[in-house]
Amino acid sequence: MKTTFIMHAAKEIQQTILANENTLESLDRAIGDGDHYINMKRGAQAIVDIETELAVLSPEAALNKIGLKLLSTIGGASGPLLASFFMSMGKALQSHEGESHLKIANAFAAGVQAIIQRGKANLGEKTMLDVLIPVSNQFLLLAQQNSDTALICKGLIETAELGMLATQDLIATKGRAAGLGERAIGHIDPGAKSCQLMITSVCNLILKS
Ligand code: ADP
Ligand code: MG
Repeated sequence: MKTTFIMHAAKEIQQTILANENTLESLDRAIGDGDHYINMKRGAQAIVDIETELAVLSPEAALNKIGLKLLSTIGGASGPLLASFFMSMGKALQSHEGESHLKIANAFAAGVQAIIQRGKANLGEKTMLDVLIPVSNQFLLLAQQNSDTALICKGLIETAELGMLATQDLIATKGRAAGLGERAIGHIDPGAKSCQLMITSVCNLILKS
C-alpha cells in the first residue's frame, strides 16, 4: 500500500460521502440524532485538507495521522471509533514486512478489533461492526486462499452490502439507537451504511485501476 493510494482513496471516499448526503442524513434522523452525514463529511474534508502533510509520510504514518485527525474533527460516537481503526491499522502495517493481500487483511482486522474494544460492541448490535466484521473475515479468508485483487474487491463489495442490509432487521444494543428497542427495526444503521459506502468506493477504485 502506498501513501498516494491512501490519498486517492480518501478523495474517493469524500466524493461518495457527499453523493450520499440524503441517505446518510435520513438514516441517522430515523434512529439517531441526524448528524452522521455532517460528521462523516467533516472527517473526509479534514483528511483531504491535510493532503500535503500526508503525502510525505510512509503509509503507516499516514494512516496514524488520519486517525489522529479524525479523532479531533469528527464528533459523536463514530469519530473515536473510526480514529482507532486507522491508528491500529497503521500500527499493524508497520509491524510486518513486505506487501501482500494478507498483510493488508491482517491490518484491516487489527483496525476492526480496535473498534470492537473501544466501542465494546460486536456483531449483531446494529452498528458499523455489522459491516466491518464480516468484511474483515471475508478479506482474511480470500487473502489466505491467494485470491486475486479483483476477486477480493468483488467479494468485499458483496459482503459489505449484505452486512449493511442485515442491520435493517436488528434491534440496536449499542449507540443512540439502543433506546429505541423494536422501533429501530426496519431501519438500516447509518454507520453500517457509511462503512459499506466507503468500502465499496475503495474497492471500485482498485477495480478501475
Ligand atoms: P452519534 O451516534 O454520537 O450521533 P454518529 O451519528 O456519527 O454519532 O454515528 C452513529 C454510528 O456510530 C451508528 O450508526 C453506529 O454504526 C456507530 N456506533 C455507535 N456506537 C457504537 C459502538 N459502541 N460500536 C460500534 N459502532 C457504534
Ligand atoms: Mg448521530
